[in-house]
Amino acid sequence: MAPSEAYERVRANLDRVEMRILRACAKAHRDRDEVTLVAVTKTRSLGEVIAAHGSSLRHFGENRIEELEAKLPHLRQSLGQDLPMWHMIGHLQSRKASRAVTLVDLIHSVDSLRLARRLDRGAQEADRVVPVLLQLNVSGEESKYGFDAATPEAVDALIPELAQLEGLSHLDVRGVMTMAPIVADPEEARPVFVRLRAVRDRLRHDLAYSDWHDLSMGMTDDFEVAIQEGATLVRIGRAIFGPRDEG
Ligand SMILES: *Cc1c(COP(=O)(O)O)cnc(C)c1O
Repeated sequence: MAPSEAYERVRANLDRVEMRILRACAKAHRDRDEVTLVAVTKTRSLGEVIAAHGSSLRHFGENRIEELEAKLPHLRQSLGQDLPMWHMIGHLQSRKASRAVTLVDLIHSVDSLRLARRLDRGAQEADRVVPVLLQLNVSGEESKYGFDAATPEAVDALIPELAQLEGLSHLDVRGVMTMAPIVADPEEARPVFVRLRAVRDRLRHDLAYSDWHDLSMGMTDDFEVAIQEGATLVRIGRAIFGPRDEG
C-alpha cells in the first residue's frame, strides 16, 4: 500500500477513535489524559506504523517479540529521534524474556511467576527496571492466558503467589491487564472489566502495592465500555488500521 494511502486511512480512522474515546471519557466524567491509546500494530506493515506515527500516535503494541524485532531496526531509521513507546501485549515465553526487556517500554502480559522471575533476571543483567502489568484471567475462559482470577477462591490463592513478586526488585508492577471474551454486544464485556478493577483493588489492598494504578482493558469492539469502567490503557488495532488479514 502506498504510504499516502495508509496515512489517509489511519488519519480518518484515528479521528473517529478519538471521538469515541472522548465521548466515553465524558460519559464517565474522566479526563481524556487518563486514558492512553495503544495502537496495536501486529501484522501491520512498516508503512502503516509510520502512518500512525505521522498521525501523532506514540504508543504501539505488538504481541510477538519476533515481529517487534523485525520492525524496530527499520522504524528507528524512519522515525528518527521521535521514538514511540512499545508495549508487549501478547503471551511471552520465558526463554524470550531477556529479549523483551531491552526492547519494550511496558509488558502487559506477565502471566506467570516463572516469567516474572525471568524478566527480573533479564532486567538486572541489562541494568534496568522493567515496567510490567500482570495479566489476569477474570473470565475463566480456558483459551486465555493469565493468572487465574475467575473466582473468589482463585483470588485468595493469588495473594500468597503474588506476594513473591516483592523480591523482584527489577520489575516495576504498574497494574493489571485482561482480555475480555469476544462477544457480539460490548455490554457483555462490561462485567469482565468491572471484575478486573475489583480484583485489582483487592490485590492492591491485601498486598499493599499502592502503585498498581494501571488497568489495561478494552479493544476495538469494547473500548468505550472499558473506559467507562476505568481503563487507563486501551489496546486498539482494527478500529485504527482496518480489518486484519488473519492466517
Ligand atoms: C490484537 C490484540 C488487540 C487489538 O485487537 P483489535 O480487535 O484489533 O482492536 C488488543 N490486545 C491484544 C492482547 C491483542 O492481541
